[in-house]
Amino acid sequence: MDERLYHIPQTRLSTAWPGRLVVRASDPVALVEALASETNPERIVAVRLPLSADSEPLNAGAPGLPVELVLDDPASEYPLLYQHANLLDNHPVRAVVPVRPGFGKAVKTAIALDFAVRLEIGQPEPAAIDELLAVLDFYLHQPTVAQSIEFFHSALLGFYHQEPLPLWVVMEEEPQALRYIADGGAESRYGRLAALDLDAGVAPDADLEVWIEQVLATDPECRNCEFLNSCGGYFKWPRQDYDCAGIKRVFGGLQNAAAELRRDLKSLADATPDH
Ligand code: SF4
Repeated sequence: MDERLYHIPQTRLSTAWPGRLVVRASDPVALVEALASETNPERIVAVRLPLSADSEPLNAGAPGLPVELVLDDPASEYPLLYQHANLLDNHPVRAVVPVRPGFGKAVKTAIALDFAVRLEIGQPEPAAIDELLAVLDFYLHQPTVAQSIEFFHSALLGFYHQEPLPLWVVMEEEPQALRYIADGGAESRYGRLAALDLDAGVAPDADLEVWIEQVLATDPECRNCEFLNSCGGYFKWPRQDYDCAGIKRVFGGLQNAAAELRRDLKSLADATPDH
């Protein structure tokens, strides 16, 4: 099976795509009807809904299908998360929260509702870094947090196990695998790589390591970055002149938390009789 992941509009669901699909819903009622007659439901890995959409038709439709609720302005929209709480009866739910001023309220509300969170991190300006660090502190130290906040969760595990994964993997944005299909049908790369040619001068079958080496992390700052293995040059896109000083503080916080966790678990093991 083609391992490509296509972000498609709902209107293109009937097209014979070769890989897996994330469907951007525009009409939940029609989407549930289309999903009910879908002959290959395994190809659909998630449905994305704008937060303002009525998710009620999905409450009992397509059970088990992951639903992503996409926020645009988290500081003003976060109360709308409550109206989607019933989705959890039949679906894993994840809130997609852009890192914009006030986004922390949306993260805390989503977590309180038992939704997972994916941060659309972009290239955060210095003013956003403090709020990002505050949300990281909430994630690490608030005992009621039961769901993951990505990218924190996977980066923390990578540091803990000393097996870092580049953010391109953590955020499911591997350039060799991901395509964005616009409402009008045009195909491009996704998100921060949208402006990069489909033919980016890399062999079609090249794996992510080649991409990182040849395209994604060619900036001298990346070459010398202690977090290269956990990042892969992710924050140098789309603006190559982005100053990573702030985001390195976030990676540093995750690295320190993983080291602290390892120390705590070792102390616990050492103090346990029979060890
Ligand atoms: S944190 Fe910045 S400098 Fe370091 S690898 Fe990522 S993009 Fe490159």
